[in-house]
Amino acid sequence: MATTKTAAKTPAERLLDVLGPVDRFHEDVGDFGSPARMSMEEYLEPFAYADEKSRFGPIEKVHLFWYAGMSCDGCTVAVTGAQAPTLEGLMMGAHPGLPRVVLHHPVVNLESGPAFERAAEQAIKGELDGPFVVVLEGSIADETIAHAQGGYWAGQGEEPWGPDGAHRTVTAEEWIARLAPNSAAMIAIGTCATWGGIPAAAGNPTGAMSLMDFLGQDYRSTFGVPVVNVPGCPPIGDNFMEAVAAIVYFLQGFGPLPEFDELGRPAWQFGETVHRHCVRGAYYEEGVYAKEFGDKECLVEIGCWGPVVNCNITSRGAIGHVGGCMNSGGACIGCTMPGFPDKFTPFYTTAPGSKVSTTMSRMVGSFIRPLRAYSNANLNREVRWDVEGHVPSGWAREESEPGPVRDLGHKFYDVLRRSNDRSKNKGETWGKGSELTLAQNPELEQQLPGADDSR
Ligand code: SF4
Ligand code: SF4
Repeated sequence: MATTKTAAKTPAERLLDVLGPVDRFHEDVGDFGSPARMSMEEYLEPFAYADEKSRFGPIEKVHLFWYAGMSCDGCTVAVTGAQAPTLEGLMMGAHPGLPRVVLHHPVVNLESGPAFERAAEQAIKGELDGPFVVVLEGSIADETIAHAQGGYWAGQGEEPWGPDGAHRTVTAEEWIARLAPNSAAMIAIGTCATWGGIPAAAGNPTGAMSLMDFLGQDYRSTFGVPVVNVPGCPPIGDNFMEAVAAIVYFLQGFGPLPEFDELGRPAWQFGETVHRHCVRGAYYEEGVYAKEFGDKECLVEIGCWGPVVNCNITSRGAIGHVGGCMNSGGACIGCTMPGFPDKFTPFYTTAPGSKVSTTMSRMVGSFIRPLRAYSNANLNREVRWDVEGHVPSGWAREESEPGPVRDLGHKFYDVLRRSNDRSKNKGETWGKGSELTLAQNPELEQQLPGADDSR
């Protein structure tokens, strides 16, 4: 595999060069920042299922630190709605073999302020009571730019890391740079964290980049794992939770490292294009296209990029196998892709590359569609109706009985179909044995149970 040239220092290393080392942390601040008087871990632990009987491995718990860079929090919303498995299930250690996951999330945790930061401080000092995984939502802004101006782009909490122990805002980027060397896995969720996404679009002033760009090609976690990427804007929550569960199984020694593609995506989730599982794919094949949103046909001519985009939302749905772009009427704008958004704009216009295949599909479809309609009409009839020459439906029917030409076509097709029949004795064919029908053989009626013998 071709490799790319690595810069002498990664952006993460350059940032730490600018900021220097840290060795001061919060003093014991008692309950400050913890109105529940306990951390979320302390609250949940008595109810958790994972214990030495169920976890099948040495690890009792894995800490999961969640950081938000330049994000809209859509990834958090997607993950809290996931069902396979649920976030709550992992936190409770409810899955056989899995250790429980201790979540440190700035939005959902009970504790806040210094109490919230305590676990991350312990992780940096190497004093945490278990392995940890770091998740980044949102892209990483180049904080060296903001730092040079005395500011920051995306902060999360304060630490006494300023001159003489003064508190200063710690950026998500700094947390990531300090935690990454000792992390068991670094996982980017959502397209901003995986590829830079919208904050990294042309014209942005922040130098926004992905987690992979920030840590560099040579990054490996303490378990030897490169950066894992679960893209999407927002991602499918189940894609992320499934990948996390598989990675935690791996950390536990209970399963192999799941298969990732060359960009660190879960290979089983991103190996296919949207188009291949799209509910509108047959319209594309028959050359029938939507003219405006709300139409039921293929959306390619109003801006769908599905044929060239890796994403599984058409088969997996958005939440609980429900919804998802084309399933609910939206065209694919390529939100899972490294080239998003710049390579997909302007949105909702026909992609030039689709012209060739849509023209071909139109030509083939204009021939195929009438043939399929012809067969479809025939298959919508019982064989009995063909034999007896009418459909006993009480509903209004516009369909006329097939004339001799249509009938001949179906008979010819029938011969073709049955030419594949390799069975030794051909089965009885409806209509071939006229003795089977009362209409053509009234004598049969006499043989039926309950027939009037006196006649
Ligand atoms: S709507 Fe998009 S993904 Fe679906 S068939 Fe059309 S081009 Fe393919
Ligand atoms: S179908 Fe396209 S726009 Fe929709 S989630 Fe997948 S990549 Fe994003």
